[in-house]
Amino acid sequence: MRAKGTGVYVMDFFLREDQRIFKDTFRRFAETEIAPLVEEAEETETFPLQLFPQMGKLGYLCPRYSEKYGGAEIDKVSEVLMREEISRVSQGIASSWSAHSHLGSFPVYHWGSEEQKQKYLLPAMRGEKIFAFGLTEPNAGSDVKAIETTARRDGDGYVINGRKIFITNGNICDFLTLIAYTDKSRGYRGISIFLVEKGTPGFIVTRKLKKEGVRSSETAELLFEDCRIPARNLIGEEGSFYRVMETLNEGRIGVAGNCVGMAQGAYEAAIKYARERVQFGRPIAQFQAIAFKLADMATEIDAARLLVLRAAWMMDQGKNPIQEASMAKLFASEVAVRVSKEAMQIHGGYGQMREFSVGRFHRDALVYVVGEGTSEIQRQIIAKQMGLGG
Ligand SMILES: Cc1cc2nc3c(=O)[nH]c(=O)nc-3n(C[C@H](O)[C@H](O)[C@H](O)COP(=O)(O)OP(=O)(O)OC[C@H]3O[C@@H](n4cnc5c(N)ncnc54)[C@H](O)[C@@H]3O)c2cc1C
Repeated sequence: MRAKGTGVYVMDFFLREDQRIFKDTFRRFAETEIAPLVEEAEETETFPLQLFPQMGKLGYLCPRYSEKYGGAEIDKVSEVLMREEISRVSQGIASSWSAHSHLGSFPVYHWGSEEQKQKYLLPAMRGEKIFAFGLTEPNAGSDVKAIETTARRDGDGYVINGRKIFITNGNICDFLTLIAYTDKSRGYRGISIFLVEKGTPGFIVTRKLKKEGVRSSETAELLFEDCRIPARNLIGEEGSFYRVMETLNEGRIGVAGNCVGMAQGAYEAAIKYARERVQFGRPIAQFQAIAFKLADMATEIDAARLLVLRAAWMMDQGKNPIQEASMAKLFASEVAVRVSKEAMQIHGGYGQMREFSVGRFHRDALVYVVGEGTSEIQRQIIAKQMGLGG
């Protein structure tokens, strides 16, 4: 709803009872079931796979989807609240969750056939199978239309050739939602979406990538060499570029929620440390330089959270908040970087020690000024929405 005569969107700032309960319940789950797994997952750079069926049983995977398929049918606001809680504990875990619960499964849920939903979506929602989303390529990151992977129609199937890089869950997935050109002559209108099952001949995991951030999320490089899939694995119809964009746009709001969670996690660690650490005879929180840092951090987190909730709320009202989604993602990701950096500074030398979480929050936050659309690209989208051409 727009406030009369102002052109500004307004909202009720209080969460509904069910949203508050959901957030609190999920916080308990994150603290008791996810947090104890984080250290080992980070050190070994492996995702704790037992979380998928565990979260599936509780309705925490793909929670936006219809009850008809076993989903919790939560609204977008509840989803960002959930994302905040998971990222407050571990963005690595959140990253794999997101590739599965949003990016990979979203096109099947929205545009897939009933047969595809039964075969792919249902086991994924139960956590028995894992989804990944394959868009980015060595020569096509921000420039999505530059992808080179092709899916050539051949009889009753498609033959896929190409490479994908930075694919979250790429090496642990069962199903990959793959973006490829079916008809290059149509430009971006010739981009289509497919389902490729792990184990299909020609679907090769070239290597698992070693990363600076989100280490507990597994990321891989993939190769497709004459990989033949049945024609029924096309999602929707050929020419689905706008559906790829829709998937990314909704994803941006979710990821912005994750960024608020990382900032919150780093801030909580910093304020606790500042109250406990004594130098010059008093807790460092009592020095104005540190107290003001914490005040700025709290203010920035609050502003980011409000932007994210506004974008999510607009989506729940049936709007298509392109500009607001990009603003939320841009601001929240940059706040997560600034806040986690200050949290490290407040920790002094201990901030450099891996047994403290603040360094991890900072490494993870740096992934999200790049992943799911860089800050530069978010500014470009916002400028374009403002009529400035981007
Ligand atoms: C940990 C991780 C997980 C990921 N998971 C997935 C996944 O599951 N699936 C998937 O498909 N992708 C995934 N990605 C890819 C991610 O979405 C891309 O890295 C991102 O979109 C940027 O693409 P790029 O890395 O090729 O950078 P580039 O596009 O090459 O950008 C390099 C730099 O140039 C800037 N730049 C580019 N174009 C412009 C422009 N027009 N104007 C101004 N500046 C510009 C960028 O902002 C950036 O600073 C993941 C990435 C990471 C790091």
